[in-house]
Amino acid sequence: MYTVKTITQAIEQMAPLAWQESYDNSGLQVGDPHMDVKGVLLCLDITEAIIEEAIAKNCNLVIAHHPLLFSGLKSITGSTYVERIVMKALQHNIALYAAHTNLDNWKQGVNAKIAEKLGLQQTQILAPISQALNLLYCYAPAAMVPKIEAHLFEAGAGQVGNYFNCSFQVEGLGAFQGNEDSSPLIGAAGGPREQVAETRIEVLVPNHALIKVLAALRTAHEYEEIAYGIVPLKNKNQDLGAGMIGNLAEAMPAEAFLKHLKAALPTSCIKYTELLDRPIQRVAVCGGSGSFLLKDAIQAKADVFITSDFKYHQFFDADKQVVIADIGHYESEQFTVEIFYSILNEKFPNFAILYSERNTNPVNYFI
Ligand SMILES: [Zn+2]
Repeated sequence: MYTVKTITQAIEQMAPLAWQESYDNSGLQVGDPHMDVKGVLLCLDITEAIIEEAIAKNCNLVIAHHPLLFSGLKSITGSTYVERIVMKALQHNIALYAAHTNLDNWKQGVNAKIAEKLGLQQTQILAPISQALNLLYCYAPAAMVPKIEAHLFEAGAGQVGNYFNCSFQVEGLGAFQGNEDSSPLIGAAGGPREQVAETRIEVLVPNHALIKVLAALRTAHEYEEIAYGIVPLKNKNQDLGAGMIGNLAEAMPAEAFLKHLKAALPTSCIKYTELLDRPIQRVAVCGGSGSFLLKDAIQAKADVFITSDFKYHQFFDADKQVVIADIGHYESEQFTVEIFYSILNEKFPNFAILYSERNTNPVNYFI
């Protein structure tokens, strides 16, 4: 048996909650984190029908992409659908969990899944997040360095794109003099000023791993006082951010591409702007409401930008520089559940992880 916490931690190891946007509310929304899980139901949105499905399928953990709760409830009386869902979940001991913008911002998350369905290659984050990285430096005698580095890497330091265990070292001379209360590893309390050959170690640490990495440094380093520094970087983190851009293996005429899009991400309707005089090869995508990334898509020389929730006036902003293809919010994220499934199935094989069979799209099309 696994607990709610064990299962949801597997998702957060891949897409930490610290990656979510400020307006978001990803994480456990309803339920006891220590409850044993009988089965997991995966869905995009949590509705009353989803709770009924969970009951019928003996699943007491629902994992969704969209949070049910974005802000606090003042009462839970069943007067809104949100309150009714919370009541029903509590009555049936069903835990509700959401991984939303943290899954959007993850390089292997929502947009990677869309890119995979469309067959995009050479994919990159469309709008990488900046100010999410730090440079950590510390000093230690050479003999202590391998142990310190191993602990730092284990805690999440030293990752750059496809490279891991990355660090930089430089040799130097450290000097110190302890007072009567000190207990120095080298020299004596109140003793003379010591000069010791030391190595400066530098590693990159993402914001979300900083606390864990500093704890690892304290564990591994043997000095009473550890000399270290943390420098916030303005560098963009290429592995983290909104949207994705990539290329089709071969350019396609625009109408053929729209057919391909409709088949790859099934939707009853694509709203699109004027087709351009060039074929489609470079494709930008953003699952959900992505209109804020239009400028990035144009700047990245995308031929088409696939997303949803464009407003009438925003369509004009395509301005013959890119084709906007609005495929619908639900449709753009319909395969997000596959991300949950692959994370959980790898960690917990032979455990009941079920896809919801309900379509939770609140929008219908009359065609
Ligand atoms: Zn969404």
